[in-house]
Amino acid sequence: MHRIVILGGGTGGTLTANRLRNAYSPDDAEITVVDLDDRHVYQPGLLFVPFGLTQPEDISRPRGRQLHAGIGYRTTGVDHVDLGRHEVVLGDGSALAYDVLVVATGAVLAPEETEGLTGPGWMERVFTFYTPEGAAGLETALDSFDHGRLVVNVVEMPIKCPVAPLEFCFLADWFLRQRGVRDDVELTYATPLDAAFTTPVAARRLGGLLAERGIALETEFNTGVVDGAAGRLISYDDREIPFDLAVVVPAHNGAPCIARSTGLGDVLGFVPTDQHTLQSTVAPEVFVVGDAASLPISKAGSVTHFEGEVLVENVRRFLAGQPLDASYDGHANCFIETGFHRAMLIDFNYDVEPLPGHFPGPVGLPLMQDSRLNHLGKLMFQWIYWHSLLPGRDLPGLHSAMPTAGKKLAVDA
Ligand SMILES: Cc1cc2nc3c(=O)[nH]c(=O)nc-3n(C[C@H](O)[C@H](O)[C@H](O)COP(=O)(O)OP(=O)(O)OC[C@H]3O[C@@H](n4cnc5c(N)ncnc54)[C@H](O)[C@@H]3O)c2cc1C
Repeated sequence: MHRIVILGGGTGGTLTANRLRNAYSPDDAEITVVDLDDRHVYQPGLLFVPFGLTQPEDISRPRGRQLHAGIGYRTTGVDHVDLGRHEVVLGDGSALAYDVLVVATGAVLAPEETEGLTGPGWMERVFTFYTPEGAAGLETALDSFDHGRLVVNVVEMPIKCPVAPLEFCFLADWFLRQRGVRDDVELTYATPLDAAFTTPVAARRLGGLLAERGIALETEFNTGVVDGAAGRLISYDDREIPFDLAVVVPAHNGAPCIARSTGLGDVLGFVPTDQHTLQSTVAPEVFVVGDAASLPISKAGSVTHFEGEVLVENVRRFLAGQPLDASYDGHANCFIETGFHRAMLIDFNYDVEPLPGHFPGPVGLPLMQDSRLNHLGKLMFQWIYWHSLLPGRDLPGLHSAMPTAGKKLAVDA
């Protein structure tokens, strides 16, 4: 009987547990998931809450109910992992022994790390939509916002879903136009990157879209202070952006339980991980899925899903004493809501940047081009998340390896 313990019951922990349950009979493996609480939030849905397009309760479900029968589930915090003893020590002092540990503790927001961010004005004129509470508070604030300066700011990278703040800008532009007040609002996107996005072709396309919509782009803005009382963001190089309403994506770290586990995490609390096998580089029996991994690819649910397929195969191989499958290529895939019931789609991996063309083949959804079809895809994804992705079903046309058919080479883009 193998003992598999999974830390975190979010996107990665749930889909991994369910896939492992499908792979092993209850007589062959005991699978236990541990999470702090019983509220599983479909995080991509948070984007829509500030615009009144959904509510936090419509995107949340009990965690335990997403796990297949025969999976043990503990609702308690993980205190730390004892790598030497192969044990997870829980907040109540009890311990879980493992043969394989899967770390799926995600990324946590650290707003307190930025001077002033949680000070005066927090949840009054300074919000984040990265939590259900922040997104709901922002809905109320946006509802009565009809003139002034609206700033969307990413404090530092890495963050979950690096396109979400851009999507927020496009939706804010649409929302304000719908209400007939767009001309009375100055909309600015302030990012620590040197362009709208990390990779050249997508940066050009998304930067162009910001310009078309009249959204000012402030690059290389490393936020040092958020002065909510005076309404200004101040960068480390003393640039200032005044605001009446600020939407801030705070710094992200790995979960604190990783930092408390000697030898497990890096300086930010993410776990060093082999980028192709998803085995940690700190201990062979430790595997990592999702945002908790320190990998050169976006922290995104799609990445978590594609990783899960390879990781589960590798847990099986590891326990059978076989060589691991090194096939994860960094595949990432993301719908980018652009407002006006349209969305773009990007698809990329460690080596291939987001390129135009079609997905998953020459006939399919348009890449890097906004369309109604992509918007419908984005809306439909919530259903797919709960009913296919989390239960660990294979999705037709959506595989771990990035498809190349249908993509135009960078030189043509
Ligand atoms: C606003 C927003 C929009 C997004 N949009 C998209 C999108 O459009 N497309 C996309 O692909 N991705 C999107 N994402 C990102 C996506 O939601 C995450 O990348 C994905 O959920 C990562 O899965 P995970 O399992 O690594 O982490 P999570 O799903 O966050 O799960 C981590 C779990 O670990 C638990 N945990 C942490 N510490 C402990 C502890 N000490 N003890 C026990 N449990 C613990 C947490 O409670 C949590 O349940 C978005 C995210 C946000 C915030």
